Amino acid sequence: MSNYGKVVAFAGGVGGAKLATGLHSILEDGTLSVVVNTADDFTLHGLHISPDVDTVMYNLAGLSDPKQGWGIKGDTNEALKILDIYGGASWFKLGDKDIATHIRRTQRLNEGKNLTEVTSELSSALGIKTTILPMTNNEVATRIITPEGELEFQDYFVARKTLPKVIGVNFHGIENASATKEVLSAIEEASHIIFCPSNPIVSIGPILEVSEIREKLLNPHCTRVAVSPIIGGKALRGPAAEMLKSLNYEMSAVGVAKFLREFIDGFVMDTVDKQLKNQIEKIGLKIKTLPTIMSNLQTKRNLARQTLEFSDSLK
Ligand code: GDP
Ligand code: CA
Repeated sequence: MSNYGKVVAFAGGVGGAKLATGLHSILEDGTLSVVVNTADDFTLHGLHISPDVDTVMYNLAGLSDPKQGWGIKGDTNEALKILDIYGGASWFKLGDKDIATHIRRTQRLNEGKNLTEVTSELSSALGIKTTILPMTNNEVATRIITPEGELEFQDYFVARKTLPKVIGVNFHGIENASATKEVLSAIEEASHIIFCPSNPIVSIGPILEVSEIREKLLNPHCTRVAVSPIIGGKALRGPAAEMLKSLNYEMSAVGVAKFLREFIDGFVMDTVDKQLKNQIEKIGLKIKTLPTIMSNLQTKRNLARQTLEFSDSLK
């Protein structure tokens, strides 16, 4: 166990959950808070689904499907088959075990608990000692602007398999989203803030658009380091690289660094991108190149440790 004081990590889903798992595994119990994007949340079959929160939660609980990185390992899709027979929507894959999470979350929300409280109940029940914090308790919904019009995020991401060209993104409701007291005090108490390698535009972007979170990050009292999700000009999975390009950022780690520039002090990128070092140093960031592909617990732990060491060295 390493002593880095309190640490806050910002995460979306699959990429974010990997580094969050590494941090969770090397830090002392109770010292890590993971602030998670909720702009992917939506309602389906009357159930409140929080895809990124669940991805982080299942990963930290050791329940996650190791191949996909999301969902519960060994889960089946029997409920979905019956729903399909009834004419219910079956395009969004909800596993049978996974459905229990959405049922319980929806029930507790209907009973008057907020999303932060419900997430705490669910993750404690799964034995997770790290604090998982939704970025806000208010409703925010990412909409993707494409040449054929605006698409709801899951429609773009899952139903349309990220194929439509992205002209812009819109986080519906973000101007009325307040940061929770839990997120604000976690940031205030942090000695390190780590941006996990999540999609900068649609996973980290919404968190930074919550105005009180943004203000806190712009007036830092601790070191802030991001890990690039773009390696060799490509995302390991998903549309992050193309999104950066269509929003006029470089389709490389440089684009990620520029997107996050005002919020970070240091930037970790993969060793394959070392030739980009000068370009990123020019915008005033400290750089560390490391192997950043996390394929098992050991590589998640290694990257977590080296990222914290780097952050510590910037103090
Ligand atoms: P989503 O919400 O499930 O799409 O997940 P995130 O936004 O958290 O993460 C998506 C990003 O994670 C993609 O851009 C990937 O390139 C990145 N990613 C996934 N696995 C890894 C990894 O092992 N290392 C790094 N550096 N990035 C990764
Ligand atoms: Ca997501």
